Amino acid sequence: MGERVDERIGFLAAEITRHSELYYNHSAPEITDADFDALWDELRQLDPDNEVLHKVGPEPLPGTVKVEHMFPMRSLDKGTTDDDIVHFVTQSTSGGKRFLAQPKLDGSALSLEYVAGNLHRAATRGSGERGEDVTLNAKLVANIPTRLNHPYTIHVRGEVVMPLAIYEEKYSNVSPNPRNLCSGALRQKHGDGKANASDLVFCAYDVKFPDDSSQARFDSELLHWLQEAGIEPAPWQIFESETPQNEMIEYTKEWSMKRSSYEFEIDGIVFKLDELTHRERLGETAHHPRWALAWKFPSQEAHSVLLDVDWQTGRTGSVTPVARIAPQMVGGVTVENVTLHNVGEVERLGIKIGDKVKITRRGDVIPKIIENLGKASPSDLENRLHADGTSFTGHLSFHDIAIPENCPACNRVLTMEGAFLRCLAMECDARTARSLTYWCRTLEMDGIGEKLIEALLEKSLIVTIADLYRLNHSQLSKLDRMGDKSANNVLDELAKTRTLNLAKFLHALGMERIGPEVATTISQHFISLEKILRWIDEGEDEELTTIDGIGEKVAAIFREGISKRRTLINELTELITVIDETESSSGIFDGKSFCITGSLSRPRKEIALAIKSLGGKVVSSVSGNLDYLVAGESAGSKLEKAQNLDVTILDEHEFQILMNGTNISSSEEPSEDPHQSTGTLDDWL
Ligand SMILES: [Zn+2]
Repeated sequence: MGERVDERIGFLAAEITRHSELYYNHSAPEITDADFDALWDELRQLDPDNEVLHKVGPEPLPGTVKVEHMFPMRSLDKGTTDDDIVHFVTQSTSGGKRFLAQPKLDGSALSLEYVAGNLHRAATRGSGERGEDVTLNAKLVANIPTRLNHPYTIHVRGEVVMPLAIYEEKYSNVSPNPRNLCSGALRQKHGDGKANASDLVFCAYDVKFPDDSSQARFDSELLHWLQEAGIEPAPWQIFESETPQNEMIEYTKEWSMKRSSYEFEIDGIVFKLDELTHRERLGETAHHPRWALAWKFPSQEAHSVLLDVDWQTGRTGSVTPVARIAPQMVGGVTVENVTLHNVGEVERLGIKIGDKVKITRRGDVIPKIIENLGKASPSDLENRLHADGTSFTGHLSFHDIAIPENCPACNRVLTMEGAFLRCLAMECDARTARSLTYWCRTLEMDGIGEKLIEALLEKSLIVTIADLYRLNHSQLSKLDRMGDKSANNVLDELAKTRTLNLAKFLHALGMERIGPEVATTISQHFISLEKILRWIDEGEDEELTTIDGIGEKVAAIFREGISKRRTLINELTELITVIDETESSSGIFDGKSFCITGSLSRPRKEIALAIKSLGGKVVSSVSGNLDYLVAGESAGSKLEKAQNLDVTILDEHEFQILMNGTNISSSEEPSEDPHQSTGTLDDWL
């Protein structure tokens, strides 16, 4: 081996070590996954036995509680091509032809140790031999049971992931990808991290038995068995035929297609021999088991050229830059428009028209520019095709991105708010059209879409949401392509929404950050629209921030949003009926307030949801008006305060008794559908 090759190997090994340290221990990667993989692949070619390639992650950080894994968490052999699958099947079929496949979830690996059915300890993968104790935070993950349905003693392995909808709603400005947030959320102390563990989901892929008690023949049997025990495995598929490799390759293609709409981020497929005795027979190399292959998707990143930037005013008044780029395939789709988020991002990237850019596409969301690669050359535009297969014929030009001073929709002067450029005029055309569409879509009015709203605006038949409810048959039927029947349909759809509950009303108003969950929380706090308006008039913010999950910022946004819409709300309430929150909910906790404190066997969020689903409301501080304090172990000042104020105090058992007599068990509580949570982020739609 030549001296220069040795030097290169040394360099690659040092870089990989440094970047894995940044990635695992600091959740602060400096390079993208694709760049990291490139370093990795180069080192693997030059020196396949290099020890750096066979470490999973660095040792746990000093100062943390370390856990020796009874069963080491090994890394798997990697592949990226069809040939890698063929090779894997050929070299392992001496062990049978039945394979198990699961999507390779892109989160943070976690080991859960159950003793006699109780969650005893949770640990990160760490170096594979030793991980970090993260039991407290793992208990916050809603679908990790603290007790199994049966008294098993097992070690369950899986991945904690963040649903992409939650990532897009809450964290896309915090971290460039959800995976970094997962390990951060598990390892943080006292909620000092960027993300909450309660926003994570656990997906199992393996189970081990310390007492060797399993009788299972197939790994897939164990996945069924885990489901019964109360733990959800990642979805799986079995391949069993004479030539399973063909179906397995087909399966990777299927997942490449559905990857973008899947609820979690995945970066490939894991294939394993399904029969456990065959695994034993095949054994392991020094680095990885011979019976498994981690097949990774081709990169979701690509290069293109920034050709132009358009500015669009959204429903909430924020003016966003949309970059037009030379057509580029990324993640299986031809992309020509990508987001630049806001003015701050344009400045951060220091980007100009004519620059070569790196783009990425993550999940089912608008692709974005993540890196500026400097001035493009004409060859960067060559051989590009539009999505319909026609040739791209654009040319290069070089100039700065002009940041508009006036609203692209209404021409009023724009205001900078932090990194965002905003049109503050409520009468802004773009905002009006989009907020009308948002209203109709949120209230699920079929047949009242963007096109109809545009036509109505154009003919000046409507200006505000309230005008929708003033439309009559003769106005509607005069519109192009609107017959008698369609006009009646539109009026019927509108009629259905003349009565709606407070939460729906607040959500449909389309205020920034007031999605369905926040709207529900606020409604349960105030009960009536009248009380909200009174709260605005009296000008106290404090009351709202005592509600669980409502921070000062959201409280301020909500106050401002309602104040700005005051005229609209007054008009609307003359045309439609907004029902008080209690009238629409019915439960044994109607009108009762709860505060939760101390450590409990279930996540607080879960208990809060149970209370809310029974009509109760949850507050975060103890006052004389409080009905119940649910106090877990080691409850502190809140318990003392409640005792002094003569508030009824319930321990967890007493709380359960209070809840019983209803048929609502924890598994039937309203789950938070992540797809419903994106309600305020759709200025794009
Ligand atoms: Zn405007």
